[in-house]
Amino acid sequence: TIDLDQLTGWLTRFRDLVTEKVAYLTELDSAIGDADHGSNMTRGMGAVLERIQASPVGTVDELFKGVGMTLVTSVGGASGPLYGTFFLRIGTTAGPVKALDASGLAAALRAGLDGVVARGKAEAGDKTMFDVLAPALDAFDAALIVSSDISSAARAAYSAARTGRDATEPLLARKGRASYLGERSIGHVDPGAASTSLLFQALAEILD
Ligand code: ADP
Ligand code: MG
Ligand code: MG
Repeated sequence: TIDLDQLTGWLTRFRDLVTEKVAYLTELDSAIGDADHGSNMTRGMGAVLERIQASPVGTVDELFKGVGMTLVTSVGGASGPLYGTFFLRIGTTAGPVKALDASGLAAALRAGLDGVVARGKAEAGDKTMFDVLAPALDAFDAALIVSSDISSAARAAYSAARTGRDATEPLLARKGRASYLGERSIGHVDPGAASTSLLFQALAEILD
């Protein structure tokens, strides 16, 4: 299982990772976007952790609905509504519980991905955060078929996330700002794919 403290730890570690890697995320977004993905993610996750510290929550749905609302309202770019919807859906799917077991977490993450797709209409190979999220969740589910160990599933998800991130480099962007570049988007890792890989790094580390 993963309890409220560990879920808060996941978000805290994600905030720390995007802050540590802000220059890298900025550099990726300056190649194929408007150079704000690093600042969008650090500002958004900074606001998320401030809210959590200011008003502690008692259930998983309260936690993630707050996260989603904060990202939607504090991040102007595409990533605000997309990450915001991801976390909102995690909250509504989890419900008013104090912890999630491995299959509950898998279902909540899957609902989060469905929310991202409902909002952004990304498909596999469009060179977006979907190209990390989808294979990472597939790996998470596949690992749970072998063993119900949540930390090995998170490690498998992170491994698939890195592969998915790297695989965005040769792709032509079909969604978001990067798509305006056409062929010139080829040869760069997608910034949202990179930050989503950090999300799975954070989960794997917190469950280790
Ligand atoms: P903006 O592009 O508005 O400046 P960010 O730079 O914060 O926003 O985020 C850009 C990232 O958002 C992209 O790298 C991509 O991964 C993701 N993204 C953009 N549009 C979509 C979409 N329609 N579906 C999924 N992800 C998307
Ligand atoms: Mg941008
Ligand atoms: Mg922008």
